[in-house]
Amino acid sequence: MAGVEVLKTVDLRKYFGGVRALDGVSISIREGEFVGLIGPNGSGKSTLFNVISGIYHPDGGDVYLYGEKVTGLPPYELYRRGLVRGFQVPRLWHGMTVVENSATAARDRRGDGPFSAILRRKEWLQWEERSLVKRVHDVLEKLSLTRVALNRASEISGGQMKLTDISRALMGEARILLLDEPTAGVAPKLAQDIFKLLERLNSEGLTIFVIEHRLEVLFNHVERVIVMHEGRVLVEGPPEKVAEDPRVLDAYLGS
Ligand code: ADP
Ligand code: MG
Repeated sequence: MAGVEVLKTVDLRKYFGGVRALDGVSISIREGEFVGLIGPNGSGKSTLFNVISGIYHPDGGDVYLYGEKVTGLPPYELYRRGLVRGFQVPRLWHGMTVVENSATAARDRRGDGPFSAILRRKEWLQWEERSLVKRVHDVLEKLSLTRVALNRASEISGGQMKLTDISRALMGEARILLLDEPTAGVAPKLAQDIFKLLERLNSEGLTIFVIEHRLEVLFNHVERVIVMHEGRVLVEGPPEKVAEDPRVLDAYLGS
């Protein structure tokens, strides 16, 4: 398979008391892939995302980003390296507008380096503000959020909150985007739209790894599916193969 290996886990383990939430998970995702993660409730999907994105420390195994070991690094360090995640329940600033929510996710490129004083010069700041405005505008347009750009996050629909969460990920210049159930709680039509949008972002070069329980939606869009069961990878392959694998059906029925 072509492409750089963006994300890899090797024998990842995470235990909660007696529960083996991750019981030796090894996966690999290449640049430009659009991969779905499925499995019955409690199979360890969210835990895998939490360990990959640095929210939980694993009890064993390692995580690699672009070939570099990043196990145990805090979320902001991974974010800095281009790994961005959305949440099952979008984490938005409810008192702020949609456009503010998106803009505040933009990276601060000035930093505190030796050139920061020069970079803070007024003309530069003005230039940067203009380019920020343009980027936010482009991202919101892409997500069909222009109409509600000036609404507070507390006033928009659940689906628009999901989209605003994704807009934050895009403003954060994700190289790989991890999404935990981006269509949870949204109407079927919007679920399709969200996946069409993800497919477009993917075709523009973004690597996407998504947990999704609506298999009929997921299978239409991703190129590969990883199935988890009881903290392990049960099966992986193209959606049409996974869909007819008897082990997958068993796992879902047995749960
Ligand atoms: P999924 O996302 O596939 O539904 P999870 O990763 O949320 O599954 O959970 C996997 C297992 O780990 C479940 O048995 C769950 O109860 C347990 N678990 C997950 N997070 C915690 C936690 N913070 N504390 C204790 N147990 C947890
Ligand atoms: Mg989950």
